[in-house]
Amino acid sequence: MKAARLYGKNDLRVDDVPTPGIADDEMLVRVRAATVCGTDLRMYANGAAGIDEGRPLTLCHEFAGTIEKLGKKVKGYELGQRVSVAPNIGCGICDVCVSGDSHHCGGLVAIGVHIDGAFAEFVRIPALAIAHGNVTPIADKVSFRAAAANEAFACVYNSFERYGVNPGDAVLIIGAGAIGMMHAKLALMAGAPTVILNDLSEERLAQCKAIEPRVITVSTDLKDAVSRETNGGGANVVITACSVPAVQEQAFGYAALNGRVNFFGGLPSGKDARLDTNQIHYKQLQVSGTTRSSLCHYRKTLDLISKGLVDIDPLVTDSYRIEDIHRAFENAAAQKGVKHAIEFD
Ligand SMILES: [Zn+2]
Ligand SMILES: [Zn+2]
Repeated sequence: MKAARLYGKNDLRVDDVPTPGIADDEMLVRVRAATVCGTDLRMYANGAAGIDEGRPLTLCHEFAGTIEKLGKKVKGYELGQRVSVAPNIGCGICDVCVSGDSHHCGGLVAIGVHIDGAFAEFVRIPALAIAHGNVTPIADKVSFRAAAANEAFACVYNSFERYGVNPGDAVLIIGAGAIGMMHAKLALMAGAPTVILNDLSEERLAQCKAIEPRVITVSTDLKDAVSRETNGGGANVVITACSVPAVQEQAFGYAALNGRVNFFGGLPSGKDARLDTNQIHYKQLQVSGTTRSSLCHYRKTLDLISKGLVDIDPLVTDSYRIEDIHRAFENAAAQKGVKHAIEFD
C-alpha cells in the first residue's frame, strides 16, 4: 500500500509499504479521507523525537474509512462498517483516564503521532483503542471527509464547553482557519447573532464568508469593529484560534464585562505572552485554555454533524491524492484553502 511517511525534518516520502497485519484483538481500517492538521505541519517542519531515517512514521491522526479486517476477538463491529477513529489512546487505568480525560494520560499513544497514522491506504487500530471506544460508527449521510475533520472539531467542542455561548452573545474569533470556522459554526448553532471572524488575510476571510455568510469578517481595526458590532459593550466570548503572542496579549481588550476568553491556540515553545491581568480583575473575565479532546467530545461532535446541527463538510476545501501530499502540505502551510484532505477511492 502507499503511505506518506515522515523521516525527519522536511522529509516526507510516499512509500510503497506492506499492508499492516493485525492481531486477534485489532482491526484494519481502509482509509477513505484523512485531513491535514497543524500537528502534521509542525511535525513536518520540525521533525519529531523518535522519527529518523531508520524509524519513519506515517503521519495523520484525523481520518475515517471502512473496516477492512476484524480480529476474531473483536466484538461490536462489522466488516465494511463506516467508522471514524479518535486518535488518542490512553492507558485506560490511571485516574486521568478513568476521569474521562484519556487524551491527557501520561502514557498517551496517538495514532499518527506516536504510531503509524492514516496518510496511507490502510491503518491498523490497536486493541486498546477498540476497547476504549475510539472507533465510532458513522451514519451514511456523514461524509468521510467531515468524519475525518471531526477530530479537529472535537477539540473545538472541548473549548466551546469551557467558554459557553448563550443565545444573543457576541463572539469574536481571532484566526480564520478551519479551527476558527469551527468555533464560528458552534457559536451560530448556539444562538450567537454576532460572530466576528478576524484574520490578517483578506483572501482567507473571503473564503470563510463564502462558506458561512453569517460571519462578520474583519481584517483591520479590530477594536473599532468589535465596538461597532457590540454597541460599545465588547464581545461576550473571545477565542484566540492562532498561535500568536500579541493576539493573546490583546484578547482581554476585546472582551465585555463578565466575558469569557479562551486561548485555543497554544504558543510555539519559547514564546511567551504578557497578559494584563487587571482586565481579568476589573472586567470579571473568565479565562480558559483547552487542548485536544476526549472520546466523549469526539462522539458528541459526530452526533452534531449527523443530526445536521453543524455542517463542517464545506470546510474541507481541497482534496488530493496521496501522491500529491506535498502540495497539500504546502497549501495548508501557506494558509491557502481552509481544510485539506487526502482522499482514497
Ligand atoms: Zn488534528
Ligand atoms: Zn491513563
